[in-house]
Amino acid sequence: MSQNQKELTHPLIKDGWFAEISDTMWPGQAMSLKVEKVLHVEQSKYQDVLIFKSTDYGNVLVLDGAIQVTERDEFSYQEMIAHLALNSHPNPKKVLVIGGGDGGVLREVVKHECVEEAVLCDIDEAVPRLSKIYLPECAKSYSHEKVKVHIGDGFKFLNDYKNTFDVIITDSSDPEGPAEALFQKPYFKLLHDALTDKGVITTQGECVWLHLPVIKKVKDACKEIFPNVEYAYTTIPTYPSGQIGFMVCSKDPKVDLKKPLRSLPTEKELELYKYYSKEIHEASYVLPNFAKTALQ
Ligand code: SAM
Repeated sequence: MSQNQKELTHPLIKDGWFAEISDTMWPGQAMSLKVEKVLHVEQSKYQDVLIFKSTDYGNVLVLDGAIQVTERDEFSYQEMIAHLALNSHPNPKKVLVIGGGDGGVLREVVKHECVEEAVLCDIDEAVPRLSKIYLPECAKSYSHEKVKVHIGDGFKFLNDYKNTFDVIITDSSDPEGPAEALFQKPYFKLLHDALTDKGVITTQGECVWLHLPVIKKVKDACKEIFPNVEYAYTTIPTYPSGQIGFMVCSKDPKVDLKKPLRSLPTEKELELYKYYSKEIHEASYVLPNFAKTALQ
């Protein structure tokens, strides 16, 4: 019997609700989404993959119990992690995405006409394969002429490139599981060396309500490698506590990361972006006092 014919179940779905539980990453709280239908369950080579249709957030991708993408709010994360970096580079031509297997970040990268090549390296072939079926709006840029895909570990992939990419975006899952190495200093050194002169990175930077010590550690590690390091954030209802940040670093000590170097007229912004704008770019670096103090 195929997955389509039988009624699928998953241990994290009870009484018609999915609950995102982690005693280590977000103890004592759990985001819940009401499930309309379980669409796919798979143990891939690297992680537990669950895809379900929710009643109010569209299709949802869950890896190892953590929500990665919902169709309703994914744009706030994908747009911000991509455009904060891309608009802090004067002329990005070659862009690398590490992780990001759902394809949403790629979709944002190819909105920049100056980009000539967008390469994606995700460790798990199951994520692009299933996103093409269940998250078509995210995955639509897989067929774009500028896009190239590599399946493999981002850490190992970077080892082979020096002075190559203008922008590298790390859209990884949380630091427990296959993405652990992507939050540590040796990884930031590899990113630095794979970048061209004025190269810029963004990385998934966790949540100020839950992970300040981790964010501080990552920021300090970045500061040892890059001359210019800032933390920005976006709001997103289905990530833990509704907020997720980005570490943004440039090899250029003079560039002001908080102000976009390139921007579009407002009408064009409204046509291309549902979340990102020049104003949001600048505002996203303004932190509440408790976070500002902790990250100094
Ligand atoms: N924005 C999401 C979040 O914060 O929950 C992440 C979305 S994206 C689906 C995360 C991707 O990172 C997954 O597809 C996973 O396979 C990939 N990934 C995890 N570890 C990786 C590694 N070491 N190298 C490359 N990709 C990795």
